Parts: sequence; C-alpha cells; structure tokens
Amino acid sequence: MLGLMQSQPLLISSLIEFAQRHHGDAQVVSRRVEGDIHRYTWREVALRSRQLANALDAMKLPFSERVATLAWNGYRHLELYFGVSGSGRVLHTINPRLHPDQIAWIANHAQDKVLCFDMSFLPLVQAIHARCPGIGKYVALCDADKLPADSGIPNLVSYEAWIGAQPTAYEWPQFDENTASSMCYTSGTTGNPKAALYSHRSTTLHAYAAALPDVMCMSARDSILPVVPMFHVNAWGIPYSAALVGAKLVFPGPALDGKSVYELIEAEGVNYAAGVPTVWQMLLGHMKPNKLRFSTLKRTVIGGSACPPAMIDAFRDDYGVEVLHAWGMTEMSPLGTLCTLKNKHLTMSTEDQMKIRLKQGRAIYGVDMRIVDHDGKELPWDGKTPGDLHVKGPWILREYFKGEGGDPLVDGWFPTGDVATIDADGYMQITDRSKDVIKSGGEWISSIDVENIAVAHPAVAMAACIGMRHPKWDERPIVVVVKKPGAELTREELLKFYEGKTAKWQIPDDVVFVDAIPLGATGKMLKTRLRELLKDYQLPTAG
Ligand code: AMP
Repeated sequence: MLGLMQSQPLLISSLIEFAQRHHGDAQVVSRRVEGDIHRYTWREVALRSRQLANALDAMKLPFSERVATLAWNGYRHLELYFGVSGSGRVLHTINPRLHPDQIAWIANHAQDKVLCFDMSFLPLVQAIHARCPGIGKYVALCDADKLPADSGIPNLVSYEAWIGAQPTAYEWPQFDENTASSMCYTSGTTGNPKAALYSHRSTTLHAYAAALPDVMCMSARDSILPVVPMFHVNAWGIPYSAALVGAKLVFPGPALDGKSVYELIEAEGVNYAAGVPTVWQMLLGHMKPNKLRFSTLKRTVIGGSACPPAMIDAFRDDYGVEVLHAWGMTEMSPLGTLCTLKNKHLTMSTEDQMKIRLKQGRAIYGVDMRIVDHDGKELPWDGKTPGDLHVKGPWILREYFKGEGGDPLVDGWFPTGDVATIDADGYMQITDRSKDVIKSGGEWISSIDVENIAVAHPAVAMAACIGMRHPKWDERPIVVVVKKPGAELTREELLKFYEGKTAKWQIPDDVVFVDAIPLGATGKMLKTRLRELLKDYQLPTAG
C-alpha cells in the first residue's frame, strides 16, 4: 500500500521561491570586486534569478547544458546558483585558482556552453577562450558600462545587460528531482580531475540536513558569512540552506585578508561564519596585534582541513567564539560529519571536551560511515583502530561525471581516501590520508602532477612528492629527488623548471636530494617510509 501524501519533486527552484515568499526582506550583502558593498534582499535574488532563467531560455540553451562560473562569493553568483539550476541547466563552478591549462581542460571536459566570470578573472578568460571552442557565450559579472571594449573575447556581454531586459516573471519548470543541478571538479588522486554531479534531490536533502541544530544550526536569526568559496562544493551548501531558513547572507567577494573579513563581520552583525583554517589564521593574525574584539560573532564552522587545537582555543578563550569542526568532501556535497557535543559531555571539563572537539565529528542523518581494513573487513568503533573510511547516503557520489575512473564504490560504499578511527559514541577522527594528494590552504595539489613535472627534467631519475606540515597552509609539498647518474642539478634549477608548468602555489616549497627513494614490493614508492625518514625535516618556508 502506498502512502497517500502529495508527491512533489525536491527542486532547487523551490528554495528560492520559499525564500522570497517567507523571508523576502532578509538581506544579502556582498563586497563586490570593485570594493564597494552591495545590499539587497532575498526577494530581489528571486526576481533576478528569474530574469537570468529567462535570459537562458531566450538564448535557447537546452535543458541540462552547463553554465560555468569563475567567480567569488557574491550576489550575482548566488543568482546563478538558483537561476541556472532552477531552470534545468547545470551550474558548473570552476576553481579559478587552478592553472589556466587545467581550467581549459575542465571547461572542455564539462562541455560548458556559457562562462560567467568576475572581472578579476578577465586575464584568465583571455588566456583560455581560444582553447574552449564549445563556449558560445561569455558573460562578465559586471555593469554594462564596466565591460571592456577591446577584451578580445568573442560574444562577450555584461551580466546586467544580459539579464536586465528580461521579465522578472518566470514559471520554474517542474521535472524529476534526480535531474543534475550542478557540478564541481575535484583533483583526481590519479590522472585528470573528476567531477561530482549533484542532483536537485541530493542538493535539497543536503540543504535540509546542513541546517539542523547539530549540523550547521542555521536559522532566520542568523547573519552568515560563508568565506568558504562558492566555487568549492557550493560553499558547503550554505547558499541553499540560507534560502531554506531565511538567514541573512554576507559575501566577502575577493577580499579574504584578515582586515577585510573582520570589518565585514563587524559591519554586518555576522554571528556565524564558515571557512577553511587558513582564512581564520589570517583573521586571528590581524585581530591579535590590533587588540580587536568581535561584537557579534558567536560560532564558526571550520573544515576542509584539520582544525589546529590552538585555533579552537584562541577562538574560545580570547574571543568567546565556538568552533565547530566539520569534515566532508566534494563527492559528499560536501557535509559528512560535524563535531558538536552530546548532552553527557556538557558536564565534562574543558580539557576533556577539547579531546572530542578536535575530532572531525559524528555523522549527520543521511550519511552512513564505516571503517575497514585492507581486506575490506569492518573495524570496531573503539576510537583507537584506524581504517579506511567509507560512506554512503543520498547526497554521496555514486559515479563520477562521464563514468571517469570506473566504478568508485566498494560494496555500495564510497571510499573517501581518508583513514580514520570512530569511537563508541560515533565520533570520527581522521588520522591519515590514503589518497596521494596534498591539501594546502584548503586547495588540492596532486602529488602525481608535481612528480611528473620533476621527472620531465633531464637530470631527474625519480621524484616523490610529499606533504609537510605548515603553520599557515596546513600542508605544503616538497619533492624528493634522485638524480640521474652523473647529472648536475640544483634545488633552484628544479624549482625554476616548475615555473609556468603548474599554478604558482602548486610548485613545491623545497627539493630534497636523496640517493634512493624507498620502494615497496610492487615497485611503488613507499611514501610512509619516506615521511619517517624525513621526520626531522623543516620546511624553509615554515618559520
Ligand atoms: P574536498 O573534496 O576538496 O572538499 O576535500 C575533501 C578532503 O579534505 C577530505 O577527504 C579530507 O581529506 C580533507 N578534509 C576535509 N575536512 C577535513 C577536516 N575537518 N579534517 C581533516 N581533513 C579534512
């Protein structure tokens, strides 16, 4: 017997419709690329998203075609989130920090048809457009009078001219909730990047879950600053959840330095912020010497990389701000766990609570976790035994876009590439990473790419890239090199060789020459052994 309740597809358009109807006067504030502050309401987000949807219909862009963005966190990007997906097209947020070659590759792989970009990325678009023949329209996210006359980019319009003439009335189409809504590329642990393709259903369910009290605890009383970029896993889903609860949103634009972020928090009464540890490092680094205090900030979600204990202490003891440690990944939309205490922990000492807070947290309803050994046998939840962390649930990837990399699942579970323990209360703690990538300031660096460039140098016989702890960037890559017999090569020569071949921040911080790199039985480089050998090594940039 089937239930007799209404069946309504879970669509992203319903979020913006809801925000307009129930929270139409809640504000959305953005620091623009130009540096000034833009202020409007959820009602206007809805009206302009509909204008955008009409503009996409007017150019007859078919259902499910990709509209790409190269943009900071801001109001026009927000309109793209709703207008593109809501009208049935797929929003493809591209990470502008990647090398132009990678961006061109990603845009072609995704078969992007339209590219919308902030003016700060004009040089980037000028560098790639000739290599992206599939992109038929370029939209600069600016006013008509800011459009450069001689950009050299074909079919370039300003966003305001493009949507400005369109009506604000639009009937959002109704379709299957499993339809693709947006996509985001993640650095492949091997080979090229692969894309997670989210659906309306996965995004809406994630938005519900993210807003829960023990998750991101978002409400109509909050003024939320997502510093986590909208080009990285939909800013952890905050734009969608904010529409769902009617929160005020505050966008930092490109100004992520401590001073700008601090001023925005104070000016806009932000009580809640979210971002990777590096951003908060810059914020605290600005506040301490200037003896500044927060007047409204109460909590901050920190994730994307492990949150250092000193940061949790500093936020709590010096500023009265609660840190919520979060873990997730692009393939998980991204939220998997959040670290909030249970009732029985409230009477514990601050020290004992801290032991829990440092963990990545417990699963959100909708995410199932397990840890397994090398044979796939499930390991106990004793808080001590580490194993490969597997997840499954309705907002977790089943397959990469275009089936890249084959079937990623193991018995229906997605292997995260993280190694973790889980304790009896369900708190997960990451202890290591099995995937061969380095995370620097919240952004991935593929060890394989770093190694491939090194071995392309005629004097290099073998190269291994490993991540080293760094106080600001969390991890930085170094490359360990074995020279060819008789070959001459200096550290400086090899670092110079990297220039232009990868994004600047992906170039290793140091080169360490060794006689041999330890190899395993199958001839694979033993990076765990290499890390042990280099345990006393100090990064030249860490001081
Ligand atoms: P991404 O797909 O770029 O969001 O990266 C996801 C990966 O970042 C995870 O698989 C972890 O390796 C790492 N990560 C995310 N959050 C945390 C955290 N709180 N602590 C440690 N590592 C994290």
